[in-house]
Amino acid sequence: MTRVHEHHVTNPATEERVATVPAAAPADVDAAVRRAAAAQRGWAAAAPADRARLLRRFADAVDGHLEELAALEVAEAGHPVTGARWEAGNVRDVLEYAAGGVERLSGRQIPVPGGVDLTLLEPLGTVAVIAPWNFPMPIAAWGSAPALAAGNAVLLKPAEATPLTALRLAALALDAGLPEGLFQVLPGAGDVTGRALVDHPGVAKVVFTGSTATGREVMARCAEQVKRVTLELGGKSPNIVFADADLERAAAAAPGSFLDNAGQDCCARSRILVQAEVYDRFLELLEPAVLGFACGDPADPATAMGPLISAAQRERVRGYVREDEPAAIRGTAPRGRGYWYPATVLEREASDRVAVEEVFGPVAVVLPFTDEADAVRLANATDYGLSGSVWTRDTARALRVARAVAAGNLSVNSHASVRYGTPFGGYKRSGLGRELGPDALAAFTETKNVFLSTD
Ligand code: ADP
Repeated sequence: MTRVHEHHVTNPATEERVATVPAAAPADVDAAVRRAAAAQRGWAAAAPADRARLLRRFADAVDGHLEELAALEVAEAGHPVTGARWEAGNVRDVLEYAAGGVERLSGRQIPVPGGVDLTLLEPLGTVAVIAPWNFPMPIAAWGSAPALAAGNAVLLKPAEATPLTALRLAALALDAGLPEGLFQVLPGAGDVTGRALVDHPGVAKVVFTGSTATGREVMARCAEQVKRVTLELGGKSPNIVFADADLERAAAAAPGSFLDNAGQDCCARSRILVQAEVYDRFLELLEPAVLGFACGDPADPATAMGPLISAAQRERVRGYVREDEPAAIRGTAPRGRGYWYPATVLEREASDRVAVEEVFGPVAVVLPFTDEADAVRLANATDYGLSGSVWTRDTARALRVARAVAAGNLSVNSHASVRYGTPFGGYKRSGLGRELGPDALAAFTETKNVFLSTD
């Protein structure tokens, strides 16, 4: 690999250098695309059962290295170790689920006059997966596993801050017997390595997860070549709490919904909408729950929240609210080294910048609403539409509101948004296309229609 430059990987909890990783230059991307194309031909021609078996072996290899992968995620992303273990397990599960789809990726036989009509689901060729730093390992797998299962080669570009788990996954794939060149990791800068992948004519599809601003640029560049693209972008998701909800449960669950991963989560429920008559009571219950959300050493299994990813990210969050500004609720965070920022709940106008824009930090705004229509209006008053939660004991209302909120992932009396077996993605400016779930493999195929005349 040509060393145009390197990336330093920093532990965000200690500010210590963890590793230095060479960055892939455009010439390296070009060479990787050639290797991928060669590997993909053999992979697509292999028996489906053999492809499935190799992906299961890859899943087993991940399973055998869960602790090591989790430790890398703790070191490079500052994630609490319990969450990092879940992430490594999620990679295993996503690979296993995708492996199960290889032999079930069926086309259709459609009744037509004069012959037989078949649809063939063909692999696209080489897919670029551009991953963010917030959940480096799972998001890398959500794109890569189904793309591989559908017969494609994958070039994965991890975020600058978090290349280590991706590099380790590529090594595990080789150990598991995946062909050389089929799954390559290309660390590097977004506007160099990422852009080279997006622009390369040998890349058939781009799966991008990151900010809405960059996603828009990636989509525009893909448009030049009418390149396929999946986008998983930002969010400003509502957590809607009705007066008839189990308020204790709703308050106990709320901190995790915007403090998990220090709020650096596109699904973060960063707008807490509470029905006016229980607003004060809910805040009373929320306060101890937020203060009890332990922020500290990521290596400690009792820790719920770690630091932000970088000094730049902390400055970004401070651009919305500084640690000494008044807040309805403010937790504590370690002082000294590390990019710490305390859990913060604000009472602000719905039009306030912090109530409208994605902060990507441990900050939520709490807003009162009058009735169901008002809740839906507030929930939808955003350009984003990734996820949302509804807390109520009235099931009919739960369904009405879930239908009325323009977002891709709704949860009722829960904040769970992500399961490997269910589709995930955004409405509006939160994205394009879906990942995970039963249709994940199909998103990495072209449908070819073949008509055979029987005349
Ligand atoms: P952030 O600003 O939080 O780093 P981005 O959306 O910019 O989030 O980054 C998400 C991923 O996209 C990263 O892997 C990054 O390197 C990559 N990236 C950034 N800019 C571009 C670009 N112009 N083209 C392709 N990939 C990019």
